[in-house]
Amino acid sequence: MAREGLTAFQAVNRYFEEAARLIGLDDEMHAILTTTYREISVQVPVRLDNGDLLVVQGYRVQHNGARGPYKGGVRYHPTAGLEEVRALASLMTWKTALLDVPFGGAKGGIAVDPTGMSEAELQRMTRRFTNGISHVIGVYRDIPAPDVNTNAQTMAWMMDAYSAMHGWSPAIVTGKPLSLGGQPGREAATGRGVIDVLDAHAQHHGIELRGLRVAIQGFGNVGSWAAVEAARRGCVVVAVSDRFGGIHRETGIPVDEVVRDVRLGGKVPDAEGCETITNEELLTIDCDVLIPAALDEQLHRDNADHVRATTVVEAANYPTTPDADKILHDRGIEVIPDILANAGGVTGSYFEWTRNIQQMPWTEERFNDALRDYLTRAYHATATFADLHHCTMRQAAFAIGIERVAQSSRQRGYI
Ligand code: NAD
Repeated sequence: MAREGLTAFQAVNRYFEEAARLIGLDDEMHAILTTTYREISVQVPVRLDNGDLLVVQGYRVQHNGARGPYKGGVRYHPTAGLEEVRALASLMTWKTALLDVPFGGAKGGIAVDPTGMSEAELQRMTRRFTNGISHVIGVYRDIPAPDVNTNAQTMAWMMDAYSAMHGWSPAIVTGKPLSLGGQPGREAATGRGVIDVLDAHAQHHGIELRGLRVAIQGFGNVGSWAAVEAARRGCVVVAVSDRFGGIHRETGIPVDEVVRDVRLGGKVPDAEGCETITNEELLTIDCDVLIPAALDEQLHRDNADHVRATTVVEAANYPTTPDADKILHDRGIEVIPDILANAGGVTGSYFEWTRNIQQMPWTEERFNDALRDYLTRAYHATATFADLHHCTMRQAAFAIGIERVAQSSRQRGYI
């Protein structure tokens, strides 16, 4: 997407610039880190069930691999163009470095609207795409994962397509079904991690997590698990939404019922006993914590003035434009940035990858404990940096990530 005159990559590089200035990054390293290492664009022809041929374009962008194999999700969405995928790949670089997991940053996508495609069409498309990028991915080279409109089944097809060429390779993707080497807890990890980070934030500021009024935009993998976890820990989930619209109930929406209905194919606004609202209304609803967990650029200069939450926790990637970020900051609204808030996903993927490489199972309890430890440590590193340098949490999180990647890039002789 491109809002406010900036492409997504230009916009996230604005965030990069603010942090680079803080740490005094030199010009040569700046040039390395504001461009991508490798980008591929592949034609993906899909034979539809009715016999027609659909030709769509797929992308994989590897931003920086100084600290380990490239890592990042694959999304199926009409806006998934090169600029968006570049932006998301670079965010993965800073995120993996901030969490100190041994990966670089990548992202992939197919510019397609998959809603309404059959299982067979999705499988054919996924296999074609995997074949198209198979020469640049690998267990120690680049490891895809689920993202918007992709899931464990998508990963199983990718793993099978890759394994057909290279032999049994469960570690080629993360977010797999449990029966194929997936990790118990991984599916919930991004949403659960969002609430782990919110919990660390609440403790840091001496606020009770229990009782916080939370609104969540997006009710897919990340949003629904964040809602479940928030409710489980005593927050009041006052509003949620999906692409069809939202619901609101001041006393708390019945999260488990809505999750059950949506997983059976229902729509969020069809939930009974709640007031229906639009997605735009959800973003500006009266609450303590707003969690955008859907798509890019949902908070922009035309609605940031109307946000009524005191804290925004970015569960989605790049949900806030730079103009909105400034407006929120000027209004005293704290933003916990995407590269920290949703890092439970890639951290959980790291545990799954480790499990696959070692062929050694992890219990869900061990997984959840380790996830919380990693996220809490990253939260405190970020908050400490922000306090020390009198900067925002986003500037601090980027600065820590950039410094680590710059150091590894230098040590490896990239320049
Ligand atoms: P998903 O496809 O499972 O869910 C997306 C949700 O957003 C759905 O409920 C959909 O109905 C809703 N949505 C779509 N368009 C919308 C709109 N215009 N307004 C409101 N809601 C809309 O995707 P996901 O995996 O939950 O990813 C959501 C966000 O989290 C993305 O930004 C993604 O990059 C990020 N993220 C995902 C993971 C992961 O592990 N899946 C990890 C880190 C970050």
